[in-house]
Amino acid sequence: MKLIPLSVPNFEGNERKYVDDAIDQGWVSTGGAYITKLEQNMAGFLHTENVAACQSGTSALHLSLIEAGVRPGDAVLVPPLTFIAAVNPVKYQFATPIFIDCDDSFCMDPVKLQDFCERECQFNGQNLTYKDKTIKALIVVHVFGNMADMVSILKIAHRYNIKVIEDATEALGTKYTEGPLTGKFAGTIGDFGCYSFNGNKIITTGGGGAVTANDAKIVDHIRYLSTQAKDDSHYYIHHEVGYNYRMTNVQAALGVAQMEELPEFIRRKQRNYETYKTLFSNFELAKLKPFRKGTASNKWFYSLEIDRNKVTAPIRDIITRLEQKGIQTRAIWGLINEQLPYVNEYAYRLEKAPYYAERILNFPSSTQITEEEIAYVAEQIMLVLKELS
Ligand SMILES: *Cc1c(COP(=O)(O)O)cnc(C)c1O
Repeated sequence: MKLIPLSVPNFEGNERKYVDDAIDQGWVSTGGAYITKLEQNMAGFLHTENVAACQSGTSALHLSLIEAGVRPGDAVLVPPLTFIAAVNPVKYQFATPIFIDCDDSFCMDPVKLQDFCERECQFNGQNLTYKDKTIKALIVVHVFGNMADMVSILKIAHRYNIKVIEDATEALGTKYTEGPLTGKFAGTIGDFGCYSFNGNKIITTGGGGAVTANDAKIVDHIRYLSTQAKDDSHYYIHHEVGYNYRMTNVQAALGVAQMEELPEFIRRKQRNYETYKTLFSNFELAKLKPFRKGTASNKWFYSLEIDRNKVTAPIRDIITRLEQKGIQTRAIWGLINEQLPYVNEYAYRLEKAPYYAERILNFPSSTQITEEEIAYVAEQIMLVLKELS
C-alpha cells in the first residue's frame, strides 16, 4: 500500500537545473555564486539586511548563541516541547538550559517567562541571574510555523536585558499581519533568527540553514565564524576559533530553486489547512489547533488535539492503526527536560508542555498532497479515533 507521508520535499521547480549548473561550474563546496544568491534572495524575502547561509539549523543556532555572548557557566531560557536541536547548542557552549513552559500556541509562554524572571531570578539593572548563573539569552521556537507571542516576549527580554534568539526553523514565511509588528517575519524580530532547510522543512537544501540578526555586522561576523574564521583568503591568518559551518554551493543551488517556490508552497499549506479545518469542523474527539490570530502562518505542520476525556488510547496505538491504513502520523516530541542529557536541568512550572505532549497528533501536510488524499486522511483519523473512544 502507498503511504501518505507526513511531509516530504517538493522539487517541482529549477532544482535539477541549478544543481547541474553548480556541478558544471565545479563550485560544489563552501564557495560559489549560489550561496550569495540564496542569502540575497532570503534577505529580500524577509526584508532583512543580511543573511548568512550555513550548514544546518543547528549550526545557525550555535553561531547565534556564540554571537549572543553565551559562555560556559551562563544560562539560557529554552522550551521543553520542541525538537531537541533547539536546545543542544546551549550544551555545546557549556551553558545551562532552563526550561520555560509553552502556552496554547506550543510556543514559549510570556506569562511564565515573566513570572520566572521576576520570582526566581535577581536583576541588578544590568544582568539577570538565576542562582550563580547569568541568563544571557532565550531561545523562542515558532513551533510548527506558529508565531510565538513576540510582542510580549520582546518586552520581557528588553526589561531584563536578555538576547532573543528566534528558532524560526519551522516558520520560514510566517509573519505578523496585525499589531505593532505588522509585516515582520518570524526570525527577523528578535536579536537573531535561525532557519533550517532540512528535508522535512517547508523548503529544503537536503541539509542546511541560515541565520539573520538585527545588526548586519553581526551577520558578517557569523559568516566569518562559519568559514573557519579565515581573515585572509591566501595566507591562512585566523584571529578567532572558527567552525566548518558554511553551506555548500550545491546545497545553495537547491535552495535558490526552493526559494522561488516558497510562496506557492505556503499557499498550498494554507489551502490544505483550510480543507482539513472544514473536514474536522464537527468532530468531537479531536480539534484542529489554530494558528495565532493577527499572523499569516506558513502552516508548515498541522496538529490535532485529542480529547483525553473521550479517547484514552496512547498516541502509539493511534499512529500504528493509521499506518495500517497507509497514513503516516506522529506524536509531538517527547519533553526535552525528560531526555537523559537534560534530566538534571531546572524546569520552571511545566504544565502545558506535558499536557500537549500526550494529546497532539501531527498528520500529512506535504505540499503535493491531493484533495482526495486529504479527504481520506481526515476520514480515517476520525474513524480510528472513534474506534478507540
Ligand atoms: C529542524 C529543527 C531544528 C534543526 O534544524 P537542522 O537543520 O535539522 O539542524 C532546530 N529546531 C527546530 C524546532 C527544528 O524543527
